[in-house]
Amino acid sequence: MSHLQGFVGIVTGGSRGIGASIVRELAQQGVHLVINYQCNADAAETLVQEVQEEFGVKALAVQADVSLESDAKRLVHTAKKSFNRLDILVNNAGITRDRTFKKLSVEDWNKVIEVNLNSVFYVTHSALPYLQESPQGRIVNISSIIGQAGGFGQTNYSAAKAGMIGFTKSLALELAKTAVTVNSICPGFIETDMLAYVPEEVREQIKSRIPQRRFGQPEEIAKAVSFLVKDGGYITGQSLNVNGGLYM
Ligand code: NAP
Repeated sequence: MSHLQGFVGIVTGGSRGIGASIVRELAQQGVHLVINYQCNADAAETLVQEVQEEFGVKALAVQADVSLESDAKRLVHTAKKSFNRLDILVNNAGITRDRTFKKLSVEDWNKVIEVNLNSVFYVTHSALPYLQESPQGRIVNISSIIGQAGGFGQTNYSAAKAGMIGFTKSLALELAKTAVTVNSICPGFIETDMLAYVPEEVREQIKSRIPQRRFGQPEEIAKAVSFLVKDGGYITGQSLNVNGGLYM
């Protein structure tokens, strides 16, 4: 039996893609889950049913746009009210609005920073007092290889994801004397709806540059999250690359 049995976690953007895999992986360890989503209620509710039936944990879907401070606060307080504890926060919600820099509008810039980066501040700020009550609080931020290596047409996304890495290191320093660890995961190219938006020919070009010659699966990111949460007590302030060797 996992020592995470009975712990409580929030996964932002947990309804689909990488977030949904993280939910399944943590549920398998016996973690009760708050599954946050923005629009797709059906996907979130279906996942709630799935993990409750398959793994016997409690799960709750909560609609909240985490780019809004008030929604982020409501999300965290709903989790605390429903489960009376909070041990794990996975900041996973993210979007892209890819445009080359000359075509990038102020709106494209702001939206990507708000959803990918400001959300991390809002949710973490609300969750931290509760995470500090946990015997082992865990914050895992889903950044990206694009925050490390840059990406053509992705100045907004790259800035947001690099910002998450800096946030992770600074908060890890501030919390190092407590039981709360803070780490980032930097996925490479992972097969989800986000990658499906990329045109086929560009996808093939990307794949040919990946040393392992394949895209990653959402479950492979979820395994990395589970490692940090379960066994990562002495790991803090780090970025864990899960990218098939694309960036070393
Ligand atoms: P995805 O399949 O597009 O799913 C995105 C998730 O985020 C959905 O659950 C969505 O909810 C939620 N979401 C979006 N905006 C939100 C908001 N404002 N408030 C709350 N939830 C919101 O994306 P993914 O590929 O799984 O990506 C997950 C994370 O991994 C993102 O941070 C992404 O940047 C990062 N990442 C992905 C890749 C990749 O290749 N896929 C690579 C590196 C990093 P709804 O279902 O309600 O829309």
